[in-house]
Amino acid sequence: MTPKKRFQKAMGLRNPDRPPVLCPNQTATLEQMEKIGVYFPEAHKEADKMARLAAAAWEQLGLEAVGVPFCQSVEAEALGCEVAWGDKKTDIPHVPSQGIATPDGIVVSENFLEKGRIPAVLRAVETLKEEYGDVIPVLGHVIGPFSLAAHLANMRKILVSIHKNPELVREFTRIGIDAIADYGNAMLEHGADAIVIENMFASVDMIGGESYAKFAAPFDEELIKKIKGDTILHVCGNGDKIIEDMIATGATGISIDSRTNAEKAVIAAKGKAAILGNVDTVKVLTFGTPKGVREDTLRALKAGVDIVAPGCALSPLTPSENIIEMVKTVKHGEQKY
Ligand SMILES: [Zn+2]
Repeated sequence: MTPKKRFQKAMGLRNPDRPPVLCPNQTATLEQMEKIGVYFPEAHKEADKMARLAAAAWEQLGLEAVGVPFCQSVEAEALGCEVAWGDKKTDIPHVPSQGIATPDGIVVSENFLEKGRIPAVLRAVETLKEEYGDVIPVLGHVIGPFSLAAHLANMRKILVSIHKNPELVREFTRIGIDAIADYGNAMLEHGADAIVIENMFASVDMIGGESYAKFAAPFDEELIKKIKGDTILHVCGNGDKIIEDMIATGATGISIDSRTNAEKAVIAAKGKAAILGNVDTVKVLTFGTPKGVREDTLRALKAGVDIVAPGCALSPLTPSENIIEMVKTVKHGEQKY
């Protein structure tokens, strides 16, 4: 069975021979970069380098999906925000904006898909599809509407407004939905097999479970309805309190952080969505040993996740040997290899 077929079965809850093992979020690491001589920030900007670095996840590590881009700043940049690239070869760009005062100040132009790095990302998706698309699923990463609002308005202002002016938060969150949907649908047209919606600022650890339900989930649901293909919803942090809300968005797959109780998530999602996760990205994959990776991977498998994956984006400092250990453990299970 090809990894692509296995992925489609797992996402469709149709019992593949074993769970796929992949990372739905960013996969680039320094070790992969050094092997192919492709680094950030060029790989954030140039389509061919972006595609080559994404492909390294499969070529070098055996992760059973490839995906672009590597950051969550593409949409905000296309809407006019400044992007800070960082000065290290492994820096993930961020949006340092002090915030646009009112939603009226933001115009989503008709040619949004021609803005900023969007054309480069779409070309990278096309290249990955041409070169790997028969064997490996290609994932397109988009930002969640609440997280885009945090970029546009500034997260501190959003946190204050949640209490003082909730309608303003909703107005900012509503701005990006159609633009993100158009971008996700363009990725599907260029060959992506699924769209990953990364909603890192909607984390319960940052806004609380009640606020996820009020300010993020309804917009995630609206976005998912507009995307014409499979979706994976990723929210950072402990998802125990929001797992039902995440499932109710209608996403095909739910990507859970390592702090989320995987067993409970699997039970909650039964028959409704595939659960992806939830190997610890920091303590285990970045700073742990292969032995610890094997234990945490076996724990996730035992919990019954449909797709084994890191609980969040990979740190660029993750050692290849740890990621390879996760892949091997899923392929061989309890058996020694
Ligand atoms: Zn995350």
